[in-house]
Amino acid sequence: MILNKPYLLSEIKKLTPTVSSFVFSPQDKVSIDFSPGMFAMLQFKGEQLGETVARAFSMANCPPSPEFEFLIALVHGKLTSHLENAKVGDLYYISAPYGQFKFDFSEKNKFLFLAGGTGLAPFISMLRYIKSKGIKADCRLIYSVKYPDEIINKEELEAFGRSIGLKTTVTVTRPQPGDGWSGEKGHVNAEMIKRDAPDCADRISYICGPPAFVKALKDALISLGVNEKSIKAEMWGE
Ligand SMILES: Cc1cc2nc3c(=O)[nH]c(=O)nc-3n(C[C@H](O)[C@H](O)[C@H](O)COP(=O)(O)OP(=O)(O)OC[C@H]3O[C@@H](n4cnc5c(N)ncnc54)[C@H](O)[C@@H]3O)c2cc1C
Repeated sequence: MILNKPYLLSEIKKLTPTVSSFVFSPQDKVSIDFSPGMFAMLQFKGEQLGETVARAFSMANCPPSPEFEFLIALVHGKLTSHLENAKVGDLYYISAPYGQFKFDFSEKNKFLFLAGGTGLAPFISMLRYIKSKGIKADCRLIYSVKYPDEIINKEELEAFGRSIGLKTTVTVTRPQPGDGWSGEKGHVNAEMIKRDAPDCADRISYICGPPAFVKALKDALISLGVNEKSIKAEMWGE
């Protein structure tokens, strides 16, 4: 049964100019189990807002856990404007877990993760889970950001390369003169996937990002011979 429980905001960490990590802890310290990839509903009952606002956020932490960590783009909307001024100790309500975007290693252990922006969040949960459970998995991540300073948890992604053999490509779609970026540039496309995951038809593919990103990459995978049944997708934002 999914309960809507009180949680206190216990940690706020700025990860990039636009994305922060928010950790919420329950007063009862009871762990919630979920599959990496699933999401929670975060609810704020604000007096100033004069209404209850609830939004979905993918768990970035490793299950099971009493806490929830979300990687949230502060897009100046209803809930995110509130979060911009939130303080440790503030009260929220969370219900979880929800969703079908679930990490499943029962069938195959070869994965292709395609992330756009904060679409990285569920993959952080999956990678932390693979590492903590010692799962033998062959993981390929292609991660797209607009600007180099928007790369979330860069050091952790590099560390996954050493600990679980993750191979990562980060591509910057809006490189600027003088931004110091000398890596991959441009949108993720079929050519990039074919180059970095030539065996994509043999992998379970997970795509998470804005709707246009998810649609384009689903089409790209299908054009590369990937069976639609091997593709799982989650989308949000614009
Ligand atoms: C299953 C699921 C999982 C999600 N997981 C995450 C997550 O892990 N991290 C996260 O940051 N968000 C996530 N979201 C998005 C989140 O639920 C909210 O939609 C988002 O935080 C904006 O809420 P808001 O109340 O601040 O904006 P609203 O008041 O609802 O919207 C205000 C404006 O912001 C625009 N907007 C909304 N989202 C974005 C965006 N990402 N980028 C640019 N503009 C936007 C809207 O189009 C609108 O114009 C997820 C959504 C779903 C459905």
